[in-house]
Amino acid sequence: MRRVAHVSPLPRRVTRPFLAHRRLVLALVAFAVLVGVTYTYLQAPILWFVHVGHGAVPTPSESGGERLLIIAPHPDDDVLSLGGTMAVTAKSGGSILVVYLTSGDANRAGERLITMVPFLSASAFRALGGRREKEAVLALSRLGISAENALFLNYPDQGLMDLVTAHWASDTPYRSRYTAEEATYSRTAYRRGAAYSGENVLADLVDIIGQYRPTKVFVPHPSDTHPDHGAGYFLGTLAVETALARDPSAAPYEVRCYLTHSMERPWPSPRGVGLQREMEVPRTILKLDSWESTPLPPWSVRAKLAAIRSHFSQWWTSGRTLATFARANEICMVVRVDATGIVPHWPFGLVPGSL
Ligand SMILES: [Zn+2]
Repeated sequence: MRRVAHVSPLPRRVTRPFLAHRRLVLALVAFAVLVGVTYTYLQAPILWFVHVGHGAVPTPSESGGERLLIIAPHPDDDVLSLGGTMAVTAKSGGSILVVYLTSGDANRAGERLITMVPFLSASAFRALGGRREKEAVLALSRLGISAENALFLNYPDQGLMDLVTAHWASDTPYRSRYTAEEATYSRTAYRRGAAYSGENVLADLVDIIGQYRPTKVFVPHPSDTHPDHGAGYFLGTLAVETALARDPSAAPYEVRCYLTHSMERPWPSPRGVGLQREMEVPRTILKLDSWESTPLPPWSVRAKLAAIRSHFSQWWTSGRTLATFARANEICMVVRVDATGIVPHWPFGLVPGSL
């Protein structure tokens, strides 16, 4: 009789903990996916009812009130840094126009979450841009601002610095490695079909300033560590100076810089919701610039938090960080402007050649 080797089962004390551990991991993964899908897709029907404007500059109010122009590299930068100021201005009868330089169509984490697809396609990124435009309009509505007061230029997310440094001329357009586009493509773009170039962004901004005639312009802070924001400072301030040279009566003499990504981490600090906490200027740049702090009424801070939460695709991946921006005040760097343009600011009052 042939002997058959006896294969003994693994000891119970090895298999049971292993199986239990595996079931626990699977259960946690399933729960996380369920929460993610529920959160993401339950929000989707809300966005169906959000309509983005058709990209025309709204007629400025003749009431003589404030007309704020906010230049935001991405949807959400406006409400993060200036949501309270926007809500207060809207309630007091002032006008606000937000110009989004990009539609935020290169956000990989948000795109993966929304599509639940690990392989990212160009069409998925373009769809994400459309969704983020709607989120931006929904956020503005939380602050009492209508869809007509949002303009989407639709230039490439994660590509603005390349437009400034390597693709200034329209005959050598930039190509987005996310959407595979070389020109503005969104149906709601301010100027659909415009080549991805620095000169086109500047032309759009100068055109908008000339039509809207803002009393105050907000641009990203020059020390912001996100390249799109650094490019936003350059393009925004150059647009103000160009508009000033063309028509001094139409150009704003008040320019403010808002900070979103600081070299100092974490900032704002501490992380998390703190509606009554003060927003402070990072110590590393406090002495270099003159800053103004605007105290906010509590209702506007709550409205700001609701506006931040309306950016569903961002809230799910980094809500705790975003909520940190809802504070009792907002801070901006003051930029001096005179008839010749923006007055250069040198640290500690030093002027080159004066020593
Ligand atoms: Zn941004």
